Amino acid sequence: MTTITLGTTGAALRAAVQALPICRHCEGCQGADPTNPDPVHHASIELTGKCNHECMFCYSRVAGDAGTLPEPGYYGEPDPQAITVSQYGEPLMEPERLLAVLREAREAYGNVRLDLQTNGTLLTPALWERLEGLVDLCMVSVSAADPTHHAAVSGADTFDQLVQALSLVGRSRVWGIVRVVDMPGINSDQLPAITELARRTGMDEVMVHQCAVHADNRDRLVAAGLDLDAVAYVPGLVMRVARAAEETGMRATIQGCVLSTLRTMDADTLPYLVKDSLSEVPRLKRQRAQMGKSACGKDCPGCPMRAGNP
Ligand code: SF4
Ligand code: SF4
Repeated sequence: MTTITLGTTGAALRAAVQALPICRHCEGCQGADPTNPDPVHHASIELTGKCNHECMFCYSRVAGDAGTLPEPGYYGEPDPQAITVSQYGEPLMEPERLLAVLREAREAYGNVRLDLQTNGTLLTPALWERLEGLVDLCMVSVSAADPTHHAAVSGADTFDQLVQALSLVGRSRVWGIVRVVDMPGINSDQLPAITELARRTGMDEVMVHQCAVHADNRDRLVAAGLDLDAVAYVPGLVMRVARAAEETGMRATIQGCVLSTLRTMDADTLPYLVKDSLSEVPRLKRQRAQMGKSACGKDCPGCPMRAGNP
């Protein structure tokens, strides 16, 4: 891994973006194809907008306030390569429905890759025993490496449960990804310790996201210390992730859609790259659809894929 410091050359930055891997979760996503002019995220199954946390950066809350929270259901094509469960809310709030839709997706799509995205804090050993055989990849959101910072960002006193979840996933056959929203001024300095926590618990990879700032949560984030200029400075994010990977020996990277675009840029451009972090109201670009073979006409009244079911 190339060591880069603030002010290093574009050549060093270019070497760093070539060295960062494409996150396992991003493999097969249209977003990771820089030639696609209008990519959509992987297919997803949405279960609920509810969550036991109240993260200061949460886009589900922004979507809920704006009325763009997706209804429960399947959002994807008839032959998905990967399905994320879920992009909004916390799927472990609905454990029985989660288990049911994972089984249904497996039955409908066979070898599809099933990616669980969770804050992990509701994951018990008993629940993981039931989930482990149903998912291929598990992303656990981590915003801090100690209980105090975790509570400040997530609004919940759940750090011990989070560490337990990392250990459960980290010891299993499932590919475990620690997913970090990078917030300069709030948690960027925690990145090496978060990456070390990922290594210690046996997780396989760390994926760091640029923080998306929405009009609805901007003031709250700035009040908490967010440095908006630093959020927009993509070379800074690349440097932080490359350093954390180098210091800990962990596989660490940034979003595949950002990384694949950076890889197309030359050494003269990269050091000056600024990516606007102010985002529109989040909404799914995909339409709700019936899931594969589950739309077989059985028409079970309790089917979570039926329109109108909670
Ligand atoms: S981070 Fe980007 S490339 Fe990765 S899954 Fe999400 S949209 Fe796709
Ligand atoms: S864990 Fe995820 S869904 Fe829950 S509040 Fe945090 S960002 Fe939002």
